[in-house]
This record gives sequence, C-alpha cells and structure tokens, in this order.
Amino acid sequence: MKGFAMLRIGEVGWIEKEKPVAGPYDAIVRPIALAPCTSDIHTVFEGAIGERHNRILGHEAVGEVVEVGSEVKDFKPGDRVVVPAITPDWRTLEVQMGYHQHSGGMLSGYKFTNSKDGVFAEYFHVNDADMNLAKLPDDIPPEKAVMICDMMTTGFHGAELANVQFGSSVAVIGIGPVGLMAIAGASLRGAGRIIAVGSRPVCVEVAKHYGATDIVNYKNGDIVDQVMHLTGNKGVDCVIVAGGGVETMDQAIRMVRPGGTVANINYFGYGDLLPIPRAEWGCGMAHKDIRGGLCPGGRLRMEMLIELVRYNRVDPGKLVTHIMYGLDKVEKAFMLMKDKPRDLIKPVVIVN
Ligand code: NAD
Ligand code: ZN
Repeated sequence: MKGFAMLRIGEVGWIEKEKPVAGPYDAIVRPIALAPCTSDIHTVFEGAIGERHNRILGHEAVGEVVEVGSEVKDFKPGDRVVVPAITPDWRTLEVQMGYHQHSGGMLSGYKFTNSKDGVFAEYFHVNDADMNLAKLPDDIPPEKAVMICDMMTTGFHGAELANVQFGSSVAVIGIGPVGLMAIAGASLRGAGRIIAVGSRPVCVEVAKHYGATDIVNYKNGDIVDQVMHLTGNKGVDCVIVAGGGVETMDQAIRMVRPGGTVANINYFGYGDLLPIPRAEWGCGMAHKDIRGGLCPGGRLRMEMLIELVRYNRVDPGKLVTHIMYGLDKVEKAFMLMKDKPRDLIKPVVIVN
C-alpha cells in the first residue's frame, strides 16, 4: 500500500509499505476523510519529538473498518468509524491513575506517527478497536466528523484544563482550528466573556460564531496590555494557549488573574525552557495555576463529542475551509497546513 510519510526530519514523501495486520483486539481501517494537523508540521519540520524514518504521517481520520481481530466484539468490516488521534493501551496503570494519554509512558497514548504508522495511507492499524473506535452516525458527514478526532477533543480539553465555569472570563491565545474549538468549548461550558487573541479575518469570523465576545489583535498593540485594559487591569479567570511559540506562556501568565488558570494545549516544537514571569507570577505566590495536556482520546470521548455534534450543540464543520478529493491530495493538504495561506483554517481530504 502507499502512504504519505516523514522520510526524516525536514523531508516528506510517498512510500510503499506492507498493509498492516490486525492483532486479536485490533482493526484495520481504510480512510474516508483525512485531515493534516499543525502537529504533523511540528513533528516533521521542527523535529519536535525527534527523528522518525519513513514513518507514515497523520492522526485525524474517519474511515471504514475492513478487518477486525478475533476478539473484537463491537465492530465489523463495513462499519464507518471516527478514529481518535489518541489511541491508548487501556490496560495500563496510567489509565487507572486517570491519564490515558500517558498510558505506557509520557505521551504514549499518541501512537500514530509517534510510535507506529499514521493514517495517511490506503490502510491503517487501530489498536484495541473496541476501546478506541466510535461509530459514525449516518447523519454526520465525514468532513465534519473528522474535526472531532483531534481539533474538537483538543480545543475542548483546553476549556476543561482551564476550569471554565459559568460566567468565567476566558482569553484564548491563537485562533487556528484548535483555538477556535477552545472558544466553542469554553462557550458550551458557560463562559461569560471570551476574548479571542488573533488577527486573520477568516478565523475572527468563526471565533465570533463560536462565542468570542471580544477580539484582540496584536497589530493594535501588546496583547497582554489589551487584555488587561479590557478587564480593568484585573486579568481574566482562564487563559487557553492554543498557538504561538514559548513566549505565549509568558503572555498567558501575565494576563490571568491571581487564582486563575493557564491551560496550554499548544505543542511547543522548539526551545528548552518555557518562561514564567517572576513578578507577574507573584514571585511564586500568585496561585496562578499552569496546566497543559495532550487531548483525550478513546471511544467514550469520541462518542460524547459525537453527541454534541449530532444534537447541534456545536458545528465543527465551520473549521473546514478546503475540501479535496483522492488520497494523493493528502500531500497538497499537508503543504497547506505548513504554509497557512490566509484563507485557510483546516483542509480535509475525502478518499472515494
Ligand atoms: P495554527 O497554527 O493553525 O493556529 C495557531 C494560531 O496562533 C495561528 O493563527 C497563529 O497565527 C497564531 N499565533 C501565533 N503566535 C501567536 C501569538 N503570540 N499570539 C496570538 N496568536 C498567535 O495551529 P492549530 O492547528 O490551531 O494548532 C494549535 C497548536 O495545538 C499547535 O501547536 C498544534 O501542534 C497543537 N495541538 C496540540 C494538541 C494536543 O493534544 N495538545 C492536539 C492538536 C494540536
Ligand atoms: Zn493533531
């Protein structure tokens, strides 16, 4: 089979590999809808998780099950499924500790591309199918559903980590697809004021649709000053960091109020240290919590997010600005994600 791969740090291309084989609890899936992620870009071009040779990319897929192992109970060939970006081993102590994302070691729930081939291929392998796949309802189109696998679960996790409460004031730094889903998640959790920090008009428009009440544009001055001004110098209750480099952690800590929470869902691709501003962190005594996490995956998380889409609580389809047809278009979609033209939020590739 063919797949679109990271050949080495800084280089991508099409390669031929053997079709994967299902173990007793696994499934083999063929893609129906695929999307590239900014994380694929960090992985390839910043070498953020280290070297990978001829490793197939991609971790956002909706597909059709083509084969299941002998012990798989709830799925069969022909089922259309949403595949989470995070597909943990569910029989680990980390799961019992409440961190399935880190089952088997830090970030090990993130398997596609990280520890095995990803989804940008004619077929891909899903471990523990009963625990990691979710059925795609007929009334959700694949191009919308593929936004659930990673974008929705990550953005919503930002709102969870930030501990957004009814009436909370929230700032979201970076309003690409992940930040936009963080706005939607904060809004669903009952946030009051939601300040979106971003500038591209296509993203600003969708941010308002998802519930942003204020837009802060770096072109109008320092973003921390602007957020402090908007909040009467108090700062916001919650900051969700969903874009930018390491400097955004510094900005986030400055703009959150004492007792508030900074939640990072960004993937910092470079830099050895993340900055904490000493004085604004109350010389260490401000009770400003700093949290960060990999998105939740697995079947139940997908099923619960699917319910939100199915009952029209949120429409992640608003993120999709470009739709292409045919597996070979994965390369074009990937390069769009790298180059980020101004009219792009998220591209999707539909495979027959
Ligand atoms: P994106 O690049 O499309 O969007 C980020 C946005 O932030 C861009 O519009 C950029 O212009 C903006 N930005 C950059 N610097 C900024 C600054 N200083 N202030 C304000 N805005 C700034 O990326 P995305 O696809 O939305 O993903 C966001 C991040 O989330 C990426 O790092 C991605 O790798 C990561 N990610 C993490 C997880 C997870 O599980 N935690 C999952 C998926 C993606
Ligand atoms: Zn991703």
